[in-house]
Amino acid sequence: MPPIYSKEWKTAVVSMQGLMRQNRTSPCEAACPAGNNIQKMHSLLAEGRVDDALLAMYAKNPFPGVTGRVCPHPCEEKCNRCGYDEGLAIHALERYAADHGRTPVLTPLPPTGRRVAVIGAGAAGLTAARFLRQFGHDVTVYESSPVMGGVMRQAIPDFRLPKDVVDRETGAVAALGVRVHTNVTVGRDVTLSGLLSDCDACILAAGLWKERLLNIPGREYLQTAVSWMKKSTLERIGLEGKEVVILGGGGIAFDAAFTARRLGAAGVRMICLEAEGAMHAPEAEVAQARDEHIAMENSMLAAAVESDGEGGFTVAAVPVSGFSFDEKGALHVQESVEERKRFSAHLVICASGLQADLTALSGLDAELTPRGFVAVDPVSRMSSIPGLFAAGDIASGPGLLTSAIGSGRETALAVHRFLSGFAADSSLDVWLGDEGRLETAERKALPAPHVVELDEIMHVDYHEHAPRVAVSHGRESGRGPQLAFAELEGGLCAEDAAKEAARCLHCGHCISCGSCVESCPGHILEMGGDGPFVAWPEQCWHCGCCRIACSTGSVSYRFPLTMML
Ligand SMILES: Cc1cc2nc3c(=O)[nH]c(=O)nc-3n(C[C@H](O)[C@H](O)[C@H](O)COP(=O)(O)OP(=O)(O)OC[C@H]3O[C@@H](n4cnc5c(N)ncnc54)[C@H](O)[C@@H]3O)c2cc1C
Ligand code: SF4
Ligand code: SF4
Ligand code: SF4
Repeated sequence: MPPIYSKEWKTAVVSMQGLMRQNRTSPCEAACPAGNNIQKMHSLLAEGRVDDALLAMYAKNPFPGVTGRVCPHPCEEKCNRCGYDEGLAIHALERYAADHGRTPVLTPLPPTGRRVAVIGAGAAGLTAARFLRQFGHDVTVYESSPVMGGVMRQAIPDFRLPKDVVDRETGAVAALGVRVHTNVTVGRDVTLSGLLSDCDACILAAGLWKERLLNIPGREYLQTAVSWMKKSTLERIGLEGKEVVILGGGGIAFDAAFTARRLGAAGVRMICLEAEGAMHAPEAEVAQARDEHIAMENSMLAAAVESDGEGGFTVAAVPVSGFSFDEKGALHVQESVEERKRFSAHLVICASGLQADLTALSGLDAELTPRGFVAVDPVSRMSSIPGLFAAGDIASGPGLLTSAIGSGRETALAVHRFLSGFAADSSLDVWLGDEGRLETAERKALPAPHVVELDEIMHVDYHEHAPRVAVSHGRESGRGPQLAFAELEGGLCAEDAAKEAARCLHCGHCISCGSCVESCPGHILEMGGDGPFVAWPEQCWHCGCCRIACSTGSVSYRFPLTMML
């Protein structure tokens, strides 16, 4: 059995289920919920080809400027370079490509005459709309708010995600010819059953906007976190001299705490069920909270809120020794024997979870999951209502932006299969061809590529040890109020971006360096336009020299391997 080479695709890939040449891949790409073409971006950034790097990302993800800022980057934890020295700053490179590359001009395929309605202009809905429009379908998005972007535009605070970045990327979707009707609520202004009869398919991507209030005495005094942040984004009402208590310990609670701090609150305190060190938020946010003197009361459950009748409140909290959620999402806690604590506040914000608002589905008997999200078939992505698909948080439950983007893209492909008469489980390969037009081919699905771990890269010493580039966090305390909502994390300069991108090991992706060809003692390998190939397979004696010489772990053998001794 001669060696097998994993050769990366030269074009910008949208979806490849039948990996014809790429038998191996990197752990970062396997971990990215949006499926970003990460190592390709690194190759291009290292060469200074920023526009091409953005095209490689944009092929799969219409929002790289957003994900490069607020995705908690699960890719970086999995980066093989973590085991060598330090993982790559993938999200900072993604942001660099998005901020400095020219937005690619995409050209939709000729009109198909098929009409698709998308409910919700958030990450999932707009991603689905973009790909369906590229396929040539007539796409109309209905959005209940006055703006496009969903949570990324309405709720994530400016100091993490400036609005102009969202507007630039949502605007590029509309520029493709996607029709967007804002201020239209499906279920109130138009009916979903009407859209289902007028269109060939509908995608429900309405997200989760129903905020759960804790069922405790005094719940009428609570403000819900997302509504409060939406309002503060617009009004910026100061909180000078006020004490703010936030009930919750997840990402939304942290955003509310940082927002209250920036609005001038005298004291901000979070009451969280999670124990110290087990918070459901990135470590950087916990560190930022400490820097900003936000008090965290861990392993505590808010039990009651009392009003003093003069605009002040007291929050009583019970210590807990453990907690869990059941299949339906109901909370079960084990109270500890320690004494209750009481905290004073002028504002109490509740960040205790989001649920689906199913108004759009009224009159339709759609099947739901045990937690009340819209159930979809995992292959066809269709709900129990024929022609109705669902994408993003409304189908998956609370997730990440990058998961909503991945879900939007996969749902668009599923809808395209449905509209084009392909079987739901058919393998459709899609890539960006000339002039930014999609090209497609139906191919036999091959097994998923093997994810290359660090110890499979036999010539890893080829890569010099080098530290990760420093990304500025702007977490210094004592900033003036005029800077309060300015973006916290800084971007990379061109020199740092190229240097950081060049640290990539290209795990499982051939970079056509030629080392394997040169190291083969039998001259069995040759270099072609697409990288190395086995010219004389029957003469390979399985010495493994090619595999040992490869600095990217791109060479493998299929087992069982017969060694010739
Ligand atoms: C405060 C906050 C901070 C977050 N921070 C992060 C983060 O830093 N990183 C991260 O990865 N994830 C974060 N998330 C999670 C992430 O934002 C969501 O997973 C993602 O936005 C889900 O996308 P979506 O398209 O499914 O829904 P949404 O973004 O919610 O979009 C749904 C859209 O549908 C519209 N809509 C709803 N009902 C109707 C209707 N009946 N008719 C018409 N339109 C309707 C809504 O107005 C909205 O625009 C955060 C979430 C919140 C709430
Ligand atoms: S979207 Fe997130 S997981 Fe994917 S490459 Fe960007 S930072 Fe990494
Ligand atoms: S070294 Fe490069 S290809 Fe390998 S996991 Fe890290 S970012 Fe991905
Ligand atoms: S040695 Fe170089 S050319 Fe050969 S497979 Fe590895 S990366 Fe590709």
